[in-house]
Amino acid sequence: MKKILITGGAGFIGSHVVRRFVTSHPDYHIYNLDALTYAGNLENLRDIENAPNYTFVKGDIVDADFIEKLFSENDFHGVVHLAAESHVDRSISDPMSFVMTNVVGTVNLLNSAKKAWKDDLASHRFYHVSTDEVYGELHDPGTFFTETTSYDPRSPYSASKASSDHFVRAYHNTYKLPVVISNCSNNYGPNHFPEKLIPLMIHNIIQKRPLPVYGKGENIRDWLFVEDHARAIDVIFHDGVNGETYNIGGHNEWKNIDLVLLLCSIMDEKLGREKGETEKQITYVTDRAGHDLRYAIDATKLSNELGWKPSLQFAEGLERTVDWYLQNEEWLDNVTSGSYQKYYTEMYSDR
Ligand code: NAD
Repeated sequence: MKKILITGGAGFIGSHVVRRFVTSHPDYHIYNLDALTYAGNLENLRDIENAPNYTFVKGDIVDADFIEKLFSENDFHGVVHLAAESHVDRSISDPMSFVMTNVVGTVNLLNSAKKAWKDDLASHRFYHVSTDEVYGELHDPGTFFTETTSYDPRSPYSASKASSDHFVRAYHNTYKLPVVISNCSNNYGPNHFPEKLIPLMIHNIIQKRPLPVYGKGENIRDWLFVEDHARAIDVIFHDGVNGETYNIGGHNEWKNIDLVLLLCSIMDEKLGREKGETEKQITYVTDRAGHDLRYAIDATKLSNELGWKPSLQFAEGLERTVDWYLQNEEWLDNVTSGSYQKYYTEMYSDR
């Protein structure tokens, strides 16, 4: 059985990637390495935790000795690297933890892979999962990020991810490490921590709390259902070309305010409220510092070269997401108790 190391597998996207690899590739043994930060939650993987081809390993990618030992004790065939600090707002208040996990942690993994695979580079693969935010922001409608768009990260989060992307490419160029990178747009779906826009709104709607919309809600994001991202990662891991980058996106752009209004109308119906009742919860708050106006991905390369396309329409994906949160209120209650309350108060009390 080939051993595959997936990092950050207890998080939002990682849990869907782990599930997909464990269930679709019984010939692999999946090692899920996760530090279980506030964003990591093993509840996300309850349904597959006893699968014979799955092992959870608790550990921190910033700990170089631990990572090196893990690689020396396990002959990993490949790595799918998702572990990261992922929330832009947190990167504004605490950039250093983003440098440590996203940059230092990634370099630790690269070093260990390089050392462990040095006699047979060709039969291995290091897959680095990244974001479209490394490209900066777009202004003109009809323009898109492609794989050759220059990097222009504008938040501490995107700067740390851009740095990690550069290190991954540098290890390919310098040491011939077999790497692939993908840069994906905003994901949504089950298991998403309620600090991010869609689950935050769903949670606050249920709780009858204000719905904090940054600025005038004019910022535009491209949204992709998380299982479509996990499928793209599967395709790229197996069929992508070493040294290449693939952009992943949904061709599904929404202004934040329009998305929140859509969620409000879905929730009116789901909660049996009067039409228009939920949108009264919307509150405009001081904009995020340096808030990028628009991100939009051109995923033509992935579609033309590897045959991947998003499978789910947004309306269906959003409905599945809302239903999941309504059916998993205990999950929501658990992740929003304790330190989440402190974070939420600090974030929104003065806005
Ligand atoms: P997440 O915050 O939900 O999960 C991150 C996971 O990494 C958590 O389980 C956490 O415990 C783990 N982790 C954090 N620091 C760690 C460390 N030092 N050592 C080991 N594990 C650690 O993030 P996500 O939204 O699932 O994003 C996963 C990856 O995908 C990230 O690399 C992110 O940059 C990228 N990405 C995310 C999106 C998105 O819309 N969420 C879009 C494009 C790319």
